[in-house]
Amino acid sequence: MSQRRDPTPVQADFDLVVIGGGSGGLAGAFRAAGHGARVALLEPGEFGGTCVNLGCVPKKAMWLAADLAGRIALAADLGFDLALPPTLDWEALVAHRQRYIGNIHASYRRRLDEAGIVTMPCRGRLLDAHTVQTGDGVQLRAGRVLLATGAHAQRPSIPGAGLGGVSDDFFDLRHAPGRVALVGGGYIAVELAGVLQGLGSKVEIFARGPRLLSQMDGQVVAQLQEDMRAHGVRLHLEASVHALEDEDGRVRVRHKGGLDGTVPGTFDMALFATGRRANTDDLGLEQAGVRLGERGQVLVDEWENTSVEGVHAVGDVTGKLALTPVAIAAARKLMDRLFGGQADARLDYEQIATVVFSHPPLGTVGLTEEQARERHGDAVRVYTSGFRPMLQALADAPRRSLFKLVCVGEQERVVGLHLLGDAADEILQGFAVAVKMGVTRQQLLDTVAIHPTSAEEVVLM
Ligand code: FAD
Ligand code: NDP
Repeated sequence: MSQRRDPTPVQADFDLVVIGGGSGGLAGAFRAAGHGARVALLEPGEFGGTCVNLGCVPKKAMWLAADLAGRIALAADLGFDLALPPTLDWEALVAHRQRYIGNIHASYRRRLDEAGIVTMPCRGRLLDAHTVQTGDGVQLRAGRVLLATGAHAQRPSIPGAGLGGVSDDFFDLRHAPGRVALVGGGYIAVELAGVLQGLGSKVEIFARGPRLLSQMDGQVVAQLQEDMRAHGVRLHLEASVHALEDEDGRVRVRHKGGLDGTVPGTFDMALFATGRRANTDDLGLEQAGVRLGERGQVLVDEWENTSVEGVHAVGDVTGKLALTPVAIAAARKLMDRLFGGQADARLDYEQIATVVFSHPPLGTVGLTEEQARERHGDAVRVYTSGFRPMLQALADAPRRSLFKLVCVGEQERVVGLHLLGDAADEILQGFAVAVKMGVTRQQLLDTVAIHPTSAEEVVLM
């Protein structure tokens, strides 16, 4: 029997060791190296983390395909001679998607080399504030450590939970499943429902709350729910799923409440989209004294400092706003502060714009009407514009848009902007700048519209 040999610990010296090569870790590594720091980056999987490999990027590819399917149908309604229903070679779509992702990987590898960042294809573990042990047993001495290990999907602990997949499994699909049950009512449930329905599946959502997207503006979400129903997605609200059962290779969803209280039949596939949990297991955090929150997330202050001097964290592992640009911005600001001589650099987490890639997309920045009324009471004024975008109206299709401005005080400062409708994902970014700068409704009204567009509604409310 061969004897197990412990690898010999090797000492290495870096100004920064980054654990995790996703959105936050890569951004931190690049920015620190740009400031002249000696950086090592540990990533056991593909560079780009969740966003590039199992999140934003492959999701957007699938969303674009579903969007195209909708436009092809509209084109036929407008008189184009097309063979309907359009058929999709899902494998071909996935090949394009993965080629695109492969190019991102190649670009990261090239840029990491150019920046002189030492990369190691293994996990990292904290031994103490200044020592990281790699999965290969190498010990790295670090002036500072950045934890950027992200999060993973979690299933509720109910009987039969293993019969359901999570968003990662969606990306393994090679054809449209016939009937799909999505459990959860947040970003991922809404986005995957729209994509799957758009690409040919029959989707039912089981959400435990009275409405989808509980953090978003209620009125706008009500319109989205109407649009989703018109698209054929069946919504079971206030439906608490308590078990999944196998029935001849299909999945039965046991739930209380929901649409008409009826129990629908069985599904080809069930997916949980019930939130994500920080990747903090087996990172040596407790032993090193890094404090964790109730949900297992690394607790950081507004400077992204953990409870241990010299150890920092950004992105999903912190349990703050789980968005790629947030992880990137937090990491860059942190490195500007630590290595760039910018003592006050830190990310302002207020008024961060975000888009749910539903069909149509829902973009939002600032306070919902509910949040604004809670904070500002009667000083809140709300303006809305509900309309059918021109393409939908031309084709006599039912999908409507709803834009909403939430204003406060005599000046009517815009504290919230919510856009549901075609192109909302592209329209919002510019207006987010204005909202962040404190734009008033009058300033929007003073801006001459671009006609005919959907975006013009924002300056006409
Ligand atoms: P990640 O990108 O998850 O990176 C963490 C990395 O750490 C991983 O590569 C992992 O392998 C590595 N790691 C873990 N443990 C260790 C260890 N011990 N040692 C070394 N490495 C380790 N956000 C948006 O802004 N827009 C979107 O459209 C969007 N769509 C999404 C769709 C889906 C389906 C999902 C799941 C998420 C989506 N997000 C979106 C959220 C976004 O992906 C995350 O907020 C973002 O990836 C967080 O970046 P991060 O660096 O914190 O973590
Ligand atoms: P979300 O937090 O958005 O939604 C989780 C949903 O699951 C909520 O509806 C929640 O209900 C429900 N839920 C939680 N636990 C249970 C349970 N035990 N049983 C039944 N339902 C449950 O998480 P997601 O997983 O959808 O997405 C994770 C994060 O990733 C998002 O918050 C977002 O930050 C990011 N993301 C961003 C995207 C984008 O920018 N376009 C796209 C996808 C993800 P309740 O509301 O009642 O708590």
